[in-house]
Amino acid sequence: MNAPVRAWHAELAWLPGHGVRPDVLIEATGDRFTAVTPDVPAAGVPDGLRAGLTRLPGLTLPGLANAHSHAFHRALRGATQVGLGTFWTWRERMYQVAASLDPDTYLALARAVYAEMALAGVTCVGEFHYLHHRPGGTRYADPNEMGRVLIAAAAQAGLRITLLDTCYLSGGLGPDGEPEPLVGPQLRFGDHDGEGWAARADGLGADEHGLLGPLARVGAAIHSVRAVPVAQMHPVIAWAQRYGAPLHVHLSEQRAENEASLAAYRRTPTEVLYDAGVLGPRGTVVHATHLVGRDVDLLGGSRTYACLCPTTEADLADGIGPARALATAGCPLTLGSDSQAVIDLFEEARRVELGERLASGQRGHFRAGELARAGTTDGHASLGWPDAGEIAAGAIADLVTVGLDSPRLAGVTRTTALASVVFAASAADVRNVVVGGQDLVRDGRHLLIEDVPAALTAAIRAVLG
Ligand SMILES: [Zn+2]
Repeated sequence: MNAPVRAWHAELAWLPGHGVRPDVLIEATGDRFTAVTPDVPAAGVPDGLRAGLTRLPGLTLPGLANAHSHAFHRALRGATQVGLGTFWTWRERMYQVAASLDPDTYLALARAVYAEMALAGVTCVGEFHYLHHRPGGTRYADPNEMGRVLIAAAAQAGLRITLLDTCYLSGGLGPDGEPEPLVGPQLRFGDHDGEGWAARADGLGADEHGLLGPLARVGAAIHSVRAVPVAQMHPVIAWAQRYGAPLHVHLSEQRAENEASLAAYRRTPTEVLYDAGVLGPRGTVVHATHLVGRDVDLLGGSRTYACLCPTTEADLADGIGPARALATAGCPLTLGSDSQAVIDLFEEARRVELGERLASGQRGHFRAGELARAGTTDGHASLGWPDAGEIAAGAIADLVTVGLDSPRLAGVTRTTALASVVFAASAADVRNVVVGGQDLVRDGRHLLIEDVPAALTAAIRAVLG
């Protein structure tokens, strides 16, 4: 039996290489687009496609990729702003939540968080996952129990996931280069060494292409230069090569990491990662805030993705990274909601440009299309889905439609639609979401999880007590 043909008629759609076009007829069979035809007025849609046609008023974009997420941090929203909301308020609460989660509470929380992402137009999430074991570090009967919980949560919320299984071995880097042991809540993150991490990650059971199913694939992550000694990075790199998997790493989020790396290795964190072989076209560095010397050239020259998480970087007072310099040097940019301070990729996208403006005192660093590409094409590619993130025949059939009739966006024209959405839309303006050719959000309503706010409230209460 042939897969059913689906069709949508978009009032406006952003098409690769063509900008925003009106009256776009989009067809899909199974989970792939088969034809994308602009300038087809509604009256001109062929009879054979009319019956199941879905109209999409507003601006339709490819699905959004959230390239850096820690799902459990969602329970911290607001709680970490209490009082003056210092860095220590945040860290203490983060460890409290990390210590309290079990597979049941984590499933409920991640499912609700991913549903919030779907409502915000996210069709693919990169989950940077290090909460592997029981509190204290003993293993679950299945040592990948928590990773499987995240994969199940994404499936229940209807979105694509790359599980960036994270190697996290030490609590810090001593001045002589000796790793400091994991302590307290960190004990559940550890796999003893890089080979131990790789053996456990093998147990996830990915095929030779890294796939775990039609909507899930594996990726690897090195938590940071502080948390993984150089010698232990090699098994992680080899594992990622074996599966053709993405390899992500936190980089220079705070100056203290640079200082520890310089003291231990006499090299910046970027230089350490470059020399170890972590950087390259399958690699993503997350944050890349405090770069010095030849760091930008090493990242750009190796075509490493740079994932910016501007709302988190602002919330944690990390700083403003050199986004324009990285992009010019050759790094494709991607976007992440990271600590879930908010889940809104439009906000992340515009803050890349607005941060540059504040830091430089000048306007005009990124075009709206470049920022949109970070949240779509390049975000998906960095998560191992290079055939998602475009509305084009042959691509994975993911769509997000932003209504243009809210008070925020009323008055836009076709010429300004993309810039208006990137610079003024909010997640609340997302009306329709399609994942793999199936409707997931219709008229702002999640079709698999009826009451997302109630699911979030219950899941967060269960965690915070
Ligand atoms: Zn992170």
